Amino acid sequence: MTKSKTVVIGAGPAGLTAAYLLCKAGWPVTVLEADPQYVGGISRTVAYKGFRFDIGGHRFFSKAKEVEDLWTEILPADMLERPRSSRIFYNDKFYAYPLQPVQALSQLGVVESARCVWSYGKARLFPRPNPKSFEDWVSNEFGERLFRIFFKTYTEKVWGMSCKEISADWAAQRIKGLSLSTVLRNALLPKRQPKNRQDVIKTLVDTFRYPRKGPGMMWEACAGRVREMGGEVLLGAMAVDCSYLRAEGEWAVGYRSADGVRHTVRAEHVISSGPLGRLVQGLQPPVSAGALRAAAALKYRDFVTVALILKERGQFSDNWIYVHDPNVKVGRIQNYKSWSPEMVPDPAYSCYGLEYFCFEGDGREFDTLRAHQRKRRRPGYLRTGASLHHIKVFEIASVSKNNPIWRE
Ligand SMILES: Cc1cc2nc3c(=O)[nH]c(=O)nc-3n(C[C@H](O)[C@H](O)[C@H](O)COP(=O)(O)OP(=O)(O)OC[C@H]3O[C@@H](n4cnc5c(N)ncnc54)[C@H](O)[C@@H]3O)c2cc1C
Repeated sequence: MTKSKTVVIGAGPAGLTAAYLLCKAGWPVTVLEADPQYVGGISRTVAYKGFRFDIGGHRFFSKAKEVEDLWTEILPADMLERPRSSRIFYNDKFYAYPLQPVQALSQLGVVESARCVWSYGKARLFPRPNPKSFEDWVSNEFGERLFRIFFKTYTEKVWGMSCKEISADWAAQRIKGLSLSTVLRNALLPKRQPKNRQDVIKTLVDTFRYPRKGPGMMWEACAGRVREMGGEVLLGAMAVDCSYLRAEGEWAVGYRSADGVRHTVRAEHVISSGPLGRLVQGLQPPVSAGALRAAAALKYRDFVTVALILKERGQFSDNWIYVHDPNVKVGRIQNYKSWSPEMVPDPAYSCYGLEYFCFEGDGREFDTLRAHQRKRRRPGYLRTGASLHHIKVFEIASVSKNNPIWRE
């Protein structure tokens, strides 16, 4: 049997994994990647003057042993085992995350703590019937007071909508296995490794693996292996349409190269890891009007990472900090040097990634940041004393369309 050719759209983790496994099985593959420089999609590592930025903050942890084994196979000698340290910034105080109940209650003070305990008791005795929204689900599990303090603001920043509109199914899937009793057990009892990897609660894992030069290292190695095995990975190749040629039993995938020239590649199979909405619009013969409408209705959330390079002053050692303060727009701050020391070329500097979640087209505040970038000025929210080396604004709105929103 001749092994037929497959075109893979997108060289992010999904596309490259598919291409790697196909090549290993001896099936020819061509990967089309829109980005002219990087593979890895949202999980790429962006380099700037020797500094490396992980634009999303990527822990390598999977409940599936096969996935962990695959990462080891692709990058056998370069995965670090990193301790996890993250905190929540709320009301001018830091709270350990995962929450340490005793520390959290002492930071909240006696009155607020009593209110939280009361509200938790109330939720256990009189839960909201048929929880439909994220707010209903989390309030039932943790009490309304803790929901307002530790879940509402950050979730609304990330998704850009009220927790009343986000589906309870998404909460159950995302916060699976986590409840106040699990948090208490985890904080108070000695740690025991669950027998079954599937029983691990992702939010609570306290170590994770990380490629020493950021997540992109994994996907650059993967693209390298695909090429070594005879596959093609074309950068700056934006797939624009996908036509099925019935007579030949083949697909013709049209793509535009970085110089704007249109090309076509033929294949028996197509795997797309690009945004579903756009793929559906480019299919020939066209899909039904209903499917087109459904695809057009998919809504995506984007984000912008602003990288700050500062003189090292021991500001903080966490991997990341969630910013629950509703008065500032930044949602999370990454500390790249804590993910891997090799993310920074000179130990005299630290480098932070400020994550802003937004919709495509938002972004007047980034014009201000770009002005700071041009003038190398320190923006107001940096405490005096932090000496600014450089600001870099990375917009990833164009590639982050794999985060469709689940509405209630
Ligand atoms: C803030 C944040 C934090 C995260 N943290 C973690 C974490 O800690 N651990 C973890 O495992 N995951 C994490 N993720 C999730 C992870 O980034 C994604 O699951 C993963 O990147 C998805 O891979 P993908 O290949 O499906 O899509 P993407 O990474 O989006 O890659 C899609 C690729 O397709 C390309 N493309 C799109 N359209 C076309 C086209 N028409 N033609 C050619 N190419 C095209 C894009 O340029 C891109 O390179 C995080 C995500 C975010 C947003």
